[in-house]
Amino acid sequence: MNIPTIIQLEDDGLLLEINNNKYIFPYKYLRLQCPCANCIEEMTGRKLLNVNSIPDDIFIVDYVTIGNYAYQFLWSNADLCSTTGIFTYELLEILAKNDKAVKKV
Ligand SMILES: [Zn+2]
Repeated sequence: MNIPTIIQLEDDGLLLEINNNKYIFPYKYLRLQCPCANCIEEMTGRKLLNVNSIPDDIFIVDYVTIGNYAYQFLWSNADLCSTTGIFTYELLEILAKNDKAVKKV
């Protein structure tokens, strides 16, 4: 796991620098990846999140660093997940490397 060296809130998404590569995670895309118990049923992995409930123009207002392993994002729609959703550096790196929705810049 690599610790992001840059984190910035850009117009088109969250910018992270991971292992000397910069990536843009579009905000709505990132919101849909929330791994918290409101969004994904823990035992089965079934998706609980209603995709239609997420505004297209959602963005991140602010963030906090959790320990030395994760970020928690404050979403513009004052989403419940602002207090429950924890995005580990490991998850973000996996998304960056494997999902075309994450743009390398
Ligand atoms: Zn969530």
